[in-house]
Amino acid sequence: MTAQDCLFCRIVAGEIPADVVYQSDTAIAFRDINPQAPTHVLIIPRRHVTTINDLDADDQELVGSLFLAAKAIAQQEGLADDGYRVVMNCGEGAGQSVFHIHLHLLGGRLLNWPPG
Ligand code: AMP
Repeated sequence: MTAQDCLFCRIVAGEIPADVVYQSDTAIAFRDINPQAPTHVLIIPRRHVTTINDLDADDQELVGSLFLAAKAIAQQEGLADDGYRVVMNCGEGAGQSVFHIHLHLLGGRLLNWPPG
């Protein structure tokens, strides 16, 4: 898949608007267009990675940066004390619909477990 075909690469490039809440050298985060909780933010690497299955050992720092972004955004959004969920779907069977890895950060309501 080229950046031209990938929705999230186009958001990174500024070609498609997004409600950006966080930016770093490696990652950006923006509000989900179809929020499943009062706070629902997607945290994505600037570089295209299709699924978790495409990660390798060189990506450890990149993946770590996504989780540190989640921590920072949770604090920014006032979720740190009450709790929040961070999840990444891998593959169609798990509900992945955009094939550029992204962490979902969800909070602001009671989150049940297990998810559907
Ligand atoms: P997933 O199903 O795990 O691949 O998550 C993809 C998420 O991207 C869904 O929650 C969608 O609502 C969200 N989404 C799709 N298009 C956009 C967009 N243009 N801006 C923000 N979020 C989007």
